[in-house]
Amino acid sequence: MKESCDALIGQISNQRLNQNHWLKYNGEDTKNILISGIGGQGVLLAALCLGKAALAEGFSVRTAETHGMAQRGGSVSVHVRFGKNVKSPLIPPMSADVFLALEPAEAVRNFHFINSHTLVLINSRPYIPSTVTVGKKIKVDKDKCIGCGNCVQSCYVNYYFNFSKNSYILNLASTIKDSRHISEDNCTGCGVCLDSCPTDALELNSLYSYPEQEEIKKLFLNNSKSVIKDYSELAISAGNIKSTNIVMLGKLAEILEKNPNILPIRGETLFSVMKESVPRKNLEANIKAFCLGKA
Ligand code: SF4
Ligand code: SF4
Repeated sequence: MKESCDALIGQISNQRLNQNHWLKYNGEDTKNILISGIGGQGVLLAALCLGKAALAEGFSVRTAETHGMAQRGGSVSVHVRFGKNVKSPLIPPMSADVFLALEPAEAVRNFHFINSHTLVLINSRPYIPSTVTVGKKIKVDKDKCIGCGNCVQSCYVNYYFNFSKNSYILNLASTIKDSRHISEDNCTGCGVCLDSCPTDALELNSLYSYPEQEEIKKLFLNNSKSVIKDYSELAISAGNIKSTNIVMLGKLAEILEKNPNILPIRGETLFSVMKESVPRKNLEANIKAFCLGKA
């Protein structure tokens, strides 16, 4: 991840030279807010509040959502653009005025939207995706393997592929003879074979890794006005970790009150639309979350 972060920093430094090119297409009065996170974190609700707040301030608003397996913890991002005459719903690269990232790896994923003037708020609490926790594959240490074939017999994947060819015994024998152990290619990472190996030659390795927190901090603190903080901790204090999005709106409201040139949305407007937009049963916790974010 370190290499990829360094590469990103280099790329973005070069691209900054072209920043004026994007600003030309951005429209001078158009303001851009990007919100990203993972499914279930309330990215859409935060975007709804910001869009409504911009409408309440008298602007025309356009939004665009991108999400994959959002209900299963996949990436979600929403572009909110507002102004007098917004030409397109999608934010051009390096043109976000404000970027709210509810999850650190999702911040990295959308790094190309920020520039040196972007206000970036990142929730530092990671959400490790299932691809990292369950994405594993067997690795055979060929120096330790004695070719006993125990692993082949315990592995249902190897059994299936051999049995389906109507000659399990023959294929088992040839698998042992040719490669002496299970096939790593077909492995689903179930781990069943691990105990069958008498020489400890089998190991489950992760296919994916999660970016290091320090690398994420370095990437953003080098390149923009960034605040990286565990906003989820504040949401827990307010009574519900799911209010992390609202805590971050509170923080944004506080910054906008002190720096109205960043976005022409008043903190009180954001507070008011937030109260209208959250589910009634969670209103009290969300008001507390918004105020904790502002504090
Ligand atoms: S981890 Fe599971 S699927 Fe992979 S080789 Fe072992 S038994 Fe087969
Ligand atoms: S059980 Fe271990 S020693 Fe035996 S074939 Fe598999 S990897 Fe090799």
